[in-house]
Amino acid sequence: MENIERYKHLNKYLKDKFGERTLKICIDGGFTCPNRDGLVGTGGCIFCSERGSGDHIKSVVEISTQVQNYFKTYKAKRANKFIAYFQNFTNTYADLNTLKSKYDSALIDDRIVALAVATRPDCVTEDICKLLKSYTNKYYVWVELGLQTSNNVTGTIINRGYCSEDFTKAVSLLNKYNIDVVTHIMVGLPNESLDDLKNTVDFINLHNIQGLKIHSTYVVKNTVLEKMLNDGSYVPITLEYYLECVSYILTHISPNIIIHRVSGDAPKDLLVAPTWNSHKKWIINGLDKLLRSQDLWQGMYYYKNK
Ligand code: SF4
Repeated sequence: MENIERYKHLNKYLKDKFGERTLKICIDGGFTCPNRDGLVGTGGCIFCSERGSGDHIKSVVEISTQVQNYFKTYKAKRANKFIAYFQNFTNTYADLNTLKSKYDSALIDDRIVALAVATRPDCVTEDICKLLKSYTNKYYVWVELGLQTSNNVTGTIINRGYCSEDFTKAVSLLNKYNIDVVTHIMVGLPNESLDDLKNTVDFINLHNIQGLKIHSTYVVKNTVLEKMLNDGSYVPITLEYYLECVSYILTHISPNIIIHRVSGDAPKDLLVAPTWNSHKKWIINGLDKLLRSQDLWQGMYYYKNK
């Protein structure tokens, strides 16, 4: 059992789907977020950084220029196929013409084979689904939806500005148009216990989603969560607890879900805590070791829950 794949890795999935290594081009589409511009709220989620969770994208330039610049980098030499990934803020938060124009601006190179769009569940409408569907003739399209937790009380504490029922509605709409859904969840949110996490996993299992991103909650500079850390109202989780939680998630979700991430990716210059978050290898290797030593694999307890 040493060499088996214990969970479904995104890279392998993309390689099988496109026949070769396929890399993401992270794009800042110049969007904002209704939880920042006042429509839903102004402060944003308590963990959200000033660049809307895409801090490694250093400069905001024209979308087409970002793509052209990417193809000049050494990274672009490592593959022949690419995904245009709209990452920062809420990438469906604009009128349809603006959305189309922004997506089209990224799809300017024949090597791009997929369009990925990260957004909030309360910013998915039928018309947006139709627009995204229109790209599926030529591209593999997926939508990333923040959930973080199924617990609406935690949702209020983190100030996400939508409820879990919004997530259910958005997934149903995307399912209707056969657009793949990748869900983000977070481990180590304020006031969350292991039972909350288990409830979130049960909640996810009620939905038809195709991918999952598991993030560790980390504190970056100039966020509400940093203030909570400083006044003692938030205590970051340990790496050991994180790994225990990730192994629970993996063993209890559907074996068919593609795992896009098993850790958050905090920018080192902004990370305040926990320090282990900046050691990606500790997380990946620690998780592999845990799964191997306990002979665990994705979905092994999934069917028992059904
Ligand atoms: S929904 Fe996303 S972009 Fe908006 S405040 Fe929350 S984390 Fe930031």
